[in-house]
Amino acid sequence: MSEEPGKETVPPVAPPEEVWRRLAREAEAAESSVREWRVTPRVTAEQLRDRLEERFGDPGGRPLERVVAEVADLLRDGLTHVTSPRYFGLFNPSVTAAGIAGDALAALYNPQLAVWSHAPAAQEMEAWILERLGDRVGFGGDDVQAHFTSGGMEANYSAVLAALHQRFPDAGERGWAGVSGRPSVYVSEEAHHSVLKAARMAGIGTDAVRAVRVDDGFGLDPEALRERIAADRDDGWTPAVVVATAGTTGTGAIDPLPEVAEVADAFSAWYHVDAAWGGSAALSDRLRPLLDGVERADSLVWDAHKWLSVPMGAGMVFCRHPGALRRAFSTRTTYMPGDAHAVTAPYATTAQWSRRAIGLKVFLTGVTLGREGWAAMIERQARMGDRIREALRDAGWTVANDTPLPVVCFTHPRIRSGEATTGGVLDEIYDRGRVWISAVRPADGESLLRACVTSFRTDGSDVRCLVEELEAALAAAGADGG
Ligand SMILES: *Cc1c(COP(=O)(O)O)cnc(C)c1O
Repeated sequence: MSEEPGKETVPPVAPPEEVWRRLAREAEAAESSVREWRVTPRVTAEQLRDRLEERFGDPGGRPLERVVAEVADLLRDGLTHVTSPRYFGLFNPSVTAAGIAGDALAALYNPQLAVWSHAPAAQEMEAWILERLGDRVGFGGDDVQAHFTSGGMEANYSAVLAALHQRFPDAGERGWAGVSGRPSVYVSEEAHHSVLKAARMAGIGTDAVRAVRVDDGFGLDPEALRERIAADRDDGWTPAVVVATAGTTGTGAIDPLPEVAEVADAFSAWYHVDAAWGGSAALSDRLRPLLDGVERADSLVWDAHKWLSVPMGAGMVFCRHPGALRRAFSTRTTYMPGDAHAVTAPYATTAQWSRRAIGLKVFLTGVTLGREGWAAMIERQARMGDRIREALRDAGWTVANDTPLPVVCFTHPRIRSGEATTGGVLDEIYDRGRVWISAVRPADGESLLRACVTSFRTDGSDVRCLVEELEAALAAAGADGG
């Protein structure tokens, strides 16, 4: 028998007070000063590696309070600050104390959600919040199976896989070579590329993802969809899934959900709605009508880590056909507890096996803010989007998309005339580092600048800062010859 290890070699769970105090100070600083920080980091990989070497060169033996302080410094200097109200970027939100506390509790108790019996309290809190969120989009009933995912990617993958296994019940055992008919999936050309990745991961190949033309507003054209599906069917494809996007990543377009539902219905295809970002509009009574038609979907993807202002990663998938999820994901084991109930255990109905309590932070955020608090944050961001459109037009910029969601795609007459380029303006913006925006080329057309409101803290002063930075960047990019 070996001796018991010395107590001093066992790391403590409860960190010294100083660590909590430091974390609390970090949170306060992040809230009060993030607006003043450079949004775009100015560090090279080499500088970061040197700094790591210098501070942590010989690993081990450092007090946690010092490490926390050093890591916080590194993160402050070495991140694109997505929680800045001046980050007008991709859908990465500012977060609240409730979300941080939820993630901390999940880390502390480390609940295992693979089976219900290992984490009943966590399972029920997740189910509770999923049910309430699902209710807003017609996915609240007993016939609905909903679960948290790492993000929209895994959620879209889960939905596509469920749809395919519903259509081809033997595919789970035989693979695609063993079924008759070649499945195809329909998206708009502005849909998120996670659907392409899902098709590849599902083994049906990216050729099976058929990108359908968009209209002038960058939304899916239902007539083009109908024609494409009919032509494919005549060519021997089996149209299996139609995906509508409610809030495209590039331009914030909302595909015509009821019309897409009609087309999916006409071809007996599974109707999936990807509302990864836009889904949160459902919490606002004013914005909810934008999503009318979503309740007809067979499955829905909605990310909590985007417009619900919850820390990453927290996606959600809602599905009206639990049997399809089981077909896609269930396996038999003798070693999982409560295996008799494997049909309802998350490990048997989802892509994950060991499962973190992803939904705790969503639960804490939801029960502290309440539906109305969440709605107010979302509506405020929508109004800031309107402010950006107005301010840009007043300053002579041209807004090129039309959506009630806060994504603004724009250009300038001097870019259109070739005096400056979109890329040149972006480079200046990143170099100046006061705001962050991106670029997009919708429908493979003109390259546009893109500013999206993703922080509930963004206010009028941030919008003014954005326009000032754009003006300065345009002047500099023009002077550089673009
Ligand atoms: C962000 C996004 C995704 C991917 O979600 P992740 O959470 O980044 O994995 C899919 N679809 C749409 C429309 C999105 O906006």
